[in-house]
Amino acid sequence: MPRFLAFAAVLATAAAVPALAGSDRHVVLITLDGFPARYLDDPEVELPVIRGLRDAGASTARGMIVANPSVTWPNHTTLVTGVRPETHGVLFNGVLARAQGKPTTSNAETTQEELVRVPLLFDAVKAAGGTASAINWPCTSGSQSLADNFPDVRNMLDHTSPAVLEYMEKNDLDGKFKQGGGPRDEVWTDVAAHVIRERKPNLLALHLLELDGTHHQRGPESPQGRAVAGKLDALVGKVVQAVEEAGLKDKTAIFVTADHGFITVHKTLRPNVALRDAGLLTVKDGAIESSRVYVLPEGGIGLVYLTEPATREEDRATVHKLFDKAEGVTAVLDPADFPRYGLPDPKDHPGMADMVIAVGDGYGVGGSFKGKGLIQENSPPHGSHGYLSTEPKMNALFVAAGAGIKPGVKLPTIENVDVAPTIARILDVPLANPKPVGRVLSEILSESK
Ligand SMILES: [Zn+2]
Repeated sequence: MPRFLAFAAVLATAAAVPALAGSDRHVVLITLDGFPARYLDDPEVELPVIRGLRDAGASTARGMIVANPSVTWPNHTTLVTGVRPETHGVLFNGVLARAQGKPTTSNAETTQEELVRVPLLFDAVKAAGGTASAINWPCTSGSQSLADNFPDVRNMLDHTSPAVLEYMEKNDLDGKFKQGGGPRDEVWTDVAAHVIRERKPNLLALHLLELDGTHHQRGPESPQGRAVAGKLDALVGKVVQAVEEAGLKDKTAIFVTADHGFITVHKTLRPNVALRDAGLLTVKDGAIESSRVYVLPEGGIGLVYLTEPATREEDRATVHKLFDKAEGVTAVLDPADFPRYGLPDPKDHPGMADMVIAVGDGYGVGGSFKGKGLIQENSPPHGSHGYLSTEPKMNALFVAAGAGIKPGVKLPTIENVDVAPTIARILDVPLANPKPVGRVLSEILSESK
């Protein structure tokens, strides 16, 4: 056989055998919801496991820059696609539906197909012949690519894999799960450890949630927030232990990261109150009757919907007049600004707002349309996220260690779009559709391929 034909035959064979079939490469990706990067160096936060992983592997000096909006579902989707909301389409913890003259609503019981416009890393792993599982991961409900799926979606048990439900029942985890809060993180960790030990997926993703709730109520750097961060460190330890018990220690890279940081909110901006006073939003019997303009709060930003096409540009000018110089406001963005922030144009995405109001450190955006005053003082303060990702306090934790990760590497900072291509490289899975906007973090990888 001529040499080029032999080479072609090899290529054909290679193409027929998926890259991951029979592969012994494994990645565990853990997100600790709302874990700010700065906790890694906070002496008041007990993190023996996570700091051990940092010392044995790679970390960053200033954390990981997240995507806009800096909220949970959009950023979890960025972590497993390598693209921002302008491309993957997830803008909120749910699907947004706008209506003429009415407030925009959100539906949180939705499938991956309804939420996400591109394949996830889980789909790429499955296509390459590997196995993937996800525990409490957002935007995965209805996935055909997950061997075990316990999706982060409203009424989650209705959408969880039968094998996971059976394990929970056999081990009396149902009652604990129904307690909510911290016990749920323990259940998800238990299920993830079981899946690692018994089914050894190439990729396991686990999302733990309690810290986010505690930070919303008490604020970051609160004694309660720091204590829950320490509890999560112990749960990460249980996952590391499961990897060892599965005999996969030498074959597994572990990423511990987060979806966004947190900010303490002393004052809340209430744009809908100002819109009501300007006559752009009407209230009847304690509910919104109509809204030419409506602001859906998303923590440190407000999504502004101009819902009447006939008066849209007039209303846009009024929003600028009302909020450009308002207390706490750092920017009022129009669609021309959105590409700079990785946000889609409302012409291309029906759920996207027509404008975005951003507030700074110490402030939050609220949805209330009742009472008086644009600014409300919060005493005691609470916590929020959703700020423009240029705000350093939104930077999230990033630590990676284990098989394929170089020890002792400290990068200045990374972006969360870099995580998916880096994991894809470790697993040897093609991630090309769409091409990630992030890069492979080759400085942290011990094998250059
Ligand atoms: Zn979150």
